[in-house]
Amino acid sequence: MSESASVTCTAPVNIAIIKYWGKRDVERNLPTNGSISVTLSQKALRTTTSVHLSPEHPADRLWLNGKEDANASRAGTRLAKVFDLIRRLARQEGNPRAEWHAHVASHNSFPTAAGLASSASGFACLAFSLAKAYGLQAGNDVLSGIARQGSGSACRSLFGGYVAWEHGYEEAASPEDEDFGSHAVQLADEGHWPEMAIFVHIVSAEKKTVSSTSGMQTTVRTSPLHTYRAAHVVPARMEAMRQAIAARDFDAFAKLTMEDSNQFHATCLDTYPPIFYLNDTSRDLIQLVHRFNEQQGAIMAAYTYDAGPNAVVYIKREACRAWLDAVAALYRPANGLRANGDAWFSDAHDEVLPA
Ligand code: ATP
Repeated sequence: MSESASVTCTAPVNIAIIKYWGKRDVERNLPTNGSISVTLSQKALRTTTSVHLSPEHPADRLWLNGKEDANASRAGTRLAKVFDLIRRLARQEGNPRAEWHAHVASHNSFPTAAGLASSASGFACLAFSLAKAYGLQAGNDVLSGIARQGSGSACRSLFGGYVAWEHGYEEAASPEDEDFGSHAVQLADEGHWPEMAIFVHIVSAEKKTVSSTSGMQTTVRTSPLHTYRAAHVVPARMEAMRQAIAARDFDAFAKLTMEDSNQFHATCLDTYPPIFYLNDTSRDLIQLVHRFNEQQGAIMAAYTYDAGPNAVVYIKREACRAWLDAVAALYRPANGLRANGDAWFSDAHDEVLPA
């Protein structure tokens, strides 16, 4: 039998609190604005990816949740880009496996393409596990740049805790600066803010009808609000969010998080034709958070929604019990809001930082 290599790795989801939506350079996958996220623990939401490398494999192949994705072997796709960049790195490192192809099986422990950042954990895990299988020396900062070429937000999932993806410069600082300074950097690690917890409320596990890639392209092309937001709102919010995280200022963190989620979804509505990622249950939960904070007499919880209807709630740990009671009261089956018996909340999706 000829030589081969196998590895299995896992990667976490990250949920943006200052949202990335839109590219200024599609070729390099550079964002129209910077973003900040929190990386969740891998207890409930994670991608697991197994890679088998062999000189016998004639092409790269990938199975996602048991179904083959033909894009892995199609030149120019975001999957193919990641395989190619990893092999380029392998060649640069003089790696003896550099010309081998990979067979990959990947599985998400949570709904795929439903607004829970599966592409982030998915592409981070792909870059990381391929690098391990080839035996590359490159560190997570380099792998983050490769993951970004698969899915922008994936660059943040190579780091734990609180992570910024910097906007970067309009021009390369040097010939080697292929990322134009647009890197993911850790702002604080996962142990930084033990008083904060995170809940993920699964509102719908259905695959979204407008993928993030195509949705953001339409937004960049048609939404004046997006143009304004990227130039005039996000830079100041990035700075304010950095300070809120550094100071563990939950009031500032929560308000910025909710405002940014709301503005992101406003840009989706401002897109032509409009994109609707939130549904009635998502909007009920938004109102519930505001009512909850009023009742508590302080900002205790903050919602954010990615490109999908599922809610992520950042909350002061001391308010967790009261929040779950409030959610349970709203969705008591008798009031008819628990449509189709959907899993509106599941203990399995309860995330608490630190891990
Ligand atoms: P989500 O909707 O889950 O939040 P997203 O907002 O990043 O993800 P898309 O950009 O539409 O949305 O990404 C979903 C796509 O990412 C999937 O259709 C699939 O092509 C890819 N993807 C998801 N998980 C994986 C994985 N584990 N490995 C490789 N690719 C993945």
